[in-house]
Amino acid sequence: MRVAFFSTHAFDREFFDQANVTRRHDLHYLEARLTPATTTLARDFPVACAFVSDQLDRDVLAALWSSGTRMIALRSAGFNHVDVGQARELGFTVSRVPAYSPHAVAEHTIALILTLNRKIHRAYARVREGNFALDGLLGFDLVGRTAGVVGTGKIGAIVARILMAFGCRVLAYDIAPGSECRAMGVEYVPLDEIWTRSDVITLHTPLTTDTRHMVDARGIARMKPGVMIINTGRGALVDTPALIDGLKSGHIGYLGLDVYEEEEQLFFQDLSSHVIQDDVFARLLMFPNVVVTAHQAFFTREALHAISETTLDNISAFEQGRRSGNELY
Ligand code: NAD
Repeated sequence: MRVAFFSTHAFDREFFDQANVTRRHDLHYLEARLTPATTTLARDFPVACAFVSDQLDRDVLAALWSSGTRMIALRSAGFNHVDVGQARELGFTVSRVPAYSPHAVAEHTIALILTLNRKIHRAYARVREGNFALDGLLGFDLVGRTAGVVGTGKIGAIVARILMAFGCRVLAYDIAPGSECRAMGVEYVPLDEIWTRSDVITLHTPLTTDTRHMVDARGIARMKPGVMIINTGRGALVDTPALIDGLKSGHIGYLGLDVYEEEEQLFFQDLSSHVIQDDVFARLLMFPNVVVTAHQAFFTREALHAISETTLDNISAFEQGRRSGNELY
């Protein structure tokens, strides 16, 4: 099947070419992001393959439909960047990769927690400059601390299990509490108790109208002074200016982000020779107790392998007129 493959990175080619040896789709790799200005690149391609940085709003979907595209194959689990109502109304098939490696994201979450706590980012730079002083690098034992996991689906449940292994008390909040988490000793509590009782808070819900800015100024004010907040879910789960206020006042002790509300303009590209125009993001980078990674939590060999295989299988199912089970509706 002819596929217009948007937002191609070198790593995509490596894994998709490998997975395509047996599936034999006609993949046209495009570096461009899918935006209203680039929809014409998909003209007469029945399938558009899209990443989290691509724009799949009303206008883009309408343009794709009118130029012959009938399937959107997402190379992601999250689909908050898609106007699902419009896609459905037009008649698109939209597939995603619901689970590629929840371990990849969970392990990256733990990496952020440990980096921030033990200040590895600062220690690394210091030692390379011959500064072997320890002042300013003091951490805390995770054992006995309270961690609050918001969203205990595939990723959150693994994070909870790892934190339990560290000897943390794990609290959780989810609209659909999981029996697996309960069985391992996770205590489900209302969201406000996550805020008030946790030393470390980590977010693992999808981005929906209910979860947008779930961490806001009011929530932050309820949190323990010195709290650590980790977000590897989606940028808009947190109100970033409110986080900055919390960091400036010292109420937030540590912040680890793998996602950012306006990341489409920044992430997945080398901007090291440019001046960052996003003042909110630039301010975040000034804090010594903030670590930002550029949406790399999913980025393991195992995850990329699974993403390429599942995406191409979803396209094969569409070509053969059957359902893969990974369609959004
Ligand atoms: P999942 O569907 O398995 O779990 C999500 C959990 O959130 C579910 O248990 C659900 O009940 C809960 N939830 C939904 N709405 C809620 C609400 N309003 N309040 C409380 N809980 C709510 O998803 P997953 O595979 O664990 O992934 C979670 C999110 O992680 C994804 O939606 C995606 O946005 C993000 N993600 C990030 C990366 C990355 O590279 N940073 C990679 C993959 C996924």
